Amino acid sequence: MSKPRVAVLGLGIMGTGVASRLLSTGYEVSVYNRNRQKAMSLGDAGAFVADTPREVAARSEFVIAMVADDAASRNVWLGEEGALAGAKPGSLLLESSTLSVGWVKELHTEASQKGCEFLDAPVTGTKPHAASGELFFMVGGSAEGFARSRPVLSVLGREVLHLGPIGSGALIKLINNFVCGVEAAAFAEALALVSAGGLDREKSVAVLGNSALASPLIKRMLTSMAANDFTPNFPLKLMTKDIGYAIKEAESVGVPLRTAVPAAEVFRHALGKGLGDEDFSAVIKGVVEK
Ligand code: NAP
Repeated sequence: MSKPRVAVLGLGIMGTGVASRLLSTGYEVSVYNRNRQKAMSLGDAGAFVADTPREVAARSEFVIAMVADDAASRNVWLGEEGALAGAKPGSLLLESSTLSVGWVKELHTEASQKGCEFLDAPVTGTKPHAASGELFFMVGGSAEGFARSRPVLSVLGREVLHLGPIGSGALIKLINNFVCGVEAAAFAEALALVSAGGLDREKSVAVLGNSALASPLIKRMLTSMAANDFTPNFPLKLMTKDIGYAIKEAESVGVPLRTAVPAAEVFRHALGKGLGDEDFSAVIKGVVEK
């Protein structure tokens, strides 16, 4: 079977990696980014750079979006110049951004009305995994759509899992990220207590970094801290968004996320200190540095 032509909407940290990976594995790729400048290096590498989401969708059978949040997703899919306006009936459309479940379901309805197959397919993994095809895709939607998506997603991910109906991928992703957010916020507070309590920071970090709490996430935070390098792999503002979406989603089904609410506050505090564009691990600076 010939390879579908693929459109990538959104060329941030993740979309850039995904588009590069597709190009390097022989796919014909069209890209769109709100800030066109960011698309230029992919253009040099062989991607078609379009001015609108509509234009990329019209050129492709497979469209994948990786943008910041619900508002960004609405911008790239809806409206006269949106991807849905250009998508041909029968196209396979995927949202791999981390979004609210409600918006994903709404978008599914809109896509179905255009005669397109739509899947929510958010990911775990970060910048290096996007570029090397080692993401973990959590897919919601029809079994047929999932089967159609597999050949392309297998190029982009080490795991491609069908979770269930539309919205299932979005929900498990929010569950995953709210727990990550709680963990990160708690660890930031732990370090604040290390400092305020007069403990030796280096020795304390040696204890905490080798105990049961030292998850891959905490180890990532320790690495950023040791190098004093908070260049974003996963921007702090996006973690804040994810915790917020998880809290709202849980409320809508009657589950109060009692740990997520204060964690969101810790992240918002860091946002208020201007750390939103740094890596999520900069939440440490938000708490520790007065
Ligand atoms: P990013 O680097 O901040 O890029 C965000 C992208 O969204 C950019 O292409 C940006 O365009 C676009 N965008 C933002 N607001 C927009 C709007 N109003 N209209 C149109 N486009 C808009 O984010 P990222 O790290 O690539 O993340 C993308 C998605 O993947 C997010 O939903 C995130 O939560 C999720 N995710 C990220 C990671 C990670 O480790 N980074 C891991 C898993 C999932 P401009 O360039 O024009 O601003």
